[in-house]
Amino acid sequence: MSAINQSGWRPEMSAGGESDAPATYTGNRALMLEEPLLFEIGDLDRTGVDLPERPKVASRLAGLERNRPIGLPGLSEPEAVRHYTRLSRQNYAIDLGLFPLGSCTMKHNPRLNEKMARLPGFADLHPLTPVDGTQGALAVIHLVAEWLKALTNMPGIAMSPKAGAHGELCGLLAIRAAHEAKGDARKIILVPESAHGTNPATAAFAGYQVKGIPATVDGRVDLDALKAALSPEVAGVMITNPNTCGLFERDMIAIGEAVHAIGGYVYCDGANFNAIVGRVRPGDLGVDAMHINLHKTFSTPHGGGGPGSGPVVFSEALAPFAPLPFVEKHDDRYVLVEEETVAEEGHSKAFGRMVAFHGQMGMFTRAAAYMLSHGADGLKQVSEDAVLSANYILRSLEGVMDAPFAPSGPCMHEAIFSDKNFAEGFSTLDVAKGLIDEGFHPMTVYFPLVVHGAMLVEPTETESKAALDQFIGALRSVAERAKAGDTALKAAPIYAPRRRLDETAAARKPVLVWKEPVQAEAAE
Ligand SMILES: *Cc1c(COP(=O)(O)O)cnc(C)c1O
Repeated sequence: MSAINQSGWRPEMSAGGESDAPATYTGNRALMLEEPLLFEIGDLDRTGVDLPERPKVASRLAGLERNRPIGLPGLSEPEAVRHYTRLSRQNYAIDLGLFPLGSCTMKHNPRLNEKMARLPGFADLHPLTPVDGTQGALAVIHLVAEWLKALTNMPGIAMSPKAGAHGELCGLLAIRAAHEAKGDARKIILVPESAHGTNPATAAFAGYQVKGIPATVDGRVDLDALKAALSPEVAGVMITNPNTCGLFERDMIAIGEAVHAIGGYVYCDGANFNAIVGRVRPGDLGVDAMHINLHKTFSTPHGGGGPGSGPVVFSEALAPFAPLPFVEKHDDRYVLVEEETVAEEGHSKAFGRMVAFHGQMGMFTRAAAYMLSHGADGLKQVSEDAVLSANYILRSLEGVMDAPFAPSGPCMHEAIFSDKNFAEGFSTLDVAKGLIDEGFHPMTVYFPLVVHGAMLVEPTETESKAALDQFIGALRSVAERAKAGDTALKAAPIYAPRRRLDETAAARKPVLVWKEPVQAEAAE
């Protein structure tokens, strides 16, 4: 007979919860509670609420009424609340500890920003409210736009794109519109090998042919190879700066000059702006369009739940092609320039719109609160401290982990390591799983592809030295186990609610629909 917990669920219902510790009656381990699926707790023929008797009226659905049960489990409110709260406790979050996921800038999100974003005047505003009733919200959008233009030294901006990748698409559509306006339809976008995966995907999605540019041994764009690939067919290049190896592209100005000389445009992936904000203005480097992830640099951790926001800044050459809408300030009044007003406002070159409305208001409010509370000097300190933290990690692990680009100088906001020193049969995956046992979300692994078994660590500026030291100690100890060939590491994680999962099967044969056990058994 098996143990049954309050919800009627038996431990063996969930696979993979194996442990060397003796089993408990409930399947729980101290205060870490096992959690079955919603369907295993609730019952299809139960309901958590009392519904009134259905009135006896003739159906007016002309035979279209549902004739099978809806198949949703019935749960009471406390059952539903506990289900999601229990699941949330098995998750890792930036509010729990250091989250070293490279490229994602998982920094602390100041609570002040949340408070501002929840003000009903911003949070409850309907996008169709007439501009007379939305002057405060338009002022916030305008303020963030002006800060982003000043921080990048770029004259044009589109605030509406809703993520980094969406911003990339916005930038490429502006580049295409600019070429088309000259009657010059070009076909190729050059993307370096070390680019973020979204870059080639965006270029392909926008209908361009993607041509790769190799990296040099010190992890940067190979300028000579880039120059050799330039031709009148090239619409532009997409350069991530700082790049995905956590390095600054020193040749940015030379790249810009070469690309402009053949009539192309420079798109800069600015998702890593956290490393240079307040220190470098991309407009000074010859960039024509660049997206900025508000949900990385200007608080709200990437992947922290909720929406993103990827405003795009534009050079003088591309600004006229920026999408609608945008906010303008006329004396003391904010005006939303919309499609309908294109002709009279003289914005007929705009390539169209990225979204139905104005973008992510909550993100604009958070970013405005973040900018105003930090000030220009505070933002400069953000990038300096982010770079300092990453270099502290890079140097502290010297001699333990192989850092392929460390000999060429300091890194920017993220430190990259390879699997070179690990014992035969030990991999980056083993180190990532070992870190879970140490209480950390693993770093970004196997990305970028230019480094074998890459481990990309981004600590951000919001971690204390004590937190960095603890993380360094944990990573060092796990890396040393991988170097020594400690077979116990192969079993990690041993303390997590689940051990190693079959990630290939999960990706190739995902089970996305719950089936009633009887049905499932009958089907076998
Ligand atoms: C995060 C990131 C992106 C994509 O941003 P999303 O908001 O996830 O679409 C693009 N490039 C780089 C370098 C990034 O780090």
